[in-house]
Amino acid sequence: MMDIVTYGNPILNRTCKVVKSFSNIESIIDDMFDTMYEAEGIGLAANQVGLDMNIFIIDVTHTDETDDTHIFINSKILSIHGEKKYFQEGCLSLPGIALDVERPEKILLKYQTMDKKWHKNEFSGLLSRAIQHEMDHLNGVFIVDRVSEVEKIKYKNQLKILELDSKKHLKKSLDQKRFLL
Ligand SMILES: [Zn+2]
Repeated sequence: MMDIVTYGNPILNRTCKVVKSFSNIESIIDDMFDTMYEAEGIGLAANQVGLDMNIFIIDVTHTDETDDTHIFINSKILSIHGEKKYFQEGCLSLPGIALDVERPEKILLKYQTMDKKWHKNEFSGLLSRAIQHEMDHLNGVFIVDRVSEVEKIKYKNQLKILELDSKKHLKKSLDQKRFLL
């Protein structure tokens, strides 16, 4: 199982790297699925488990929209379509915060699968929303960045606490690394 990193960890504030080597990809993605299910999430981006890689996974099979789990590597949103809609989103990296986020209904996405094949597909519904949420992570964007300043201010204290907590964790892991000779 991997540790989910939260708001305040710098890996969540930058654009993730393009994946070039696919040699360990299967075990990374297996671990990501285990971690996501353990945390009861429906989507997870690689930087949420501390990996600087353009990868995310989604499982919305609990809805009747799709039967399969999804793996997206080196994704890029090519275009957005449809009406903008509000929907309440939570985030594994922002525990305790849920916000109404406005997003376009449909997206056209270019991405690779584990077999290195490129795909170009249009997505809609919850899957489209989840993809947009995870793509935001890979670009260093949080749901709190998608709402108005007035709305964001309500969560100022919670964000501050998460930030301090992340710094504590980072310091602890650095201290631990000193003993890895
Ligand atoms: Zn999230």
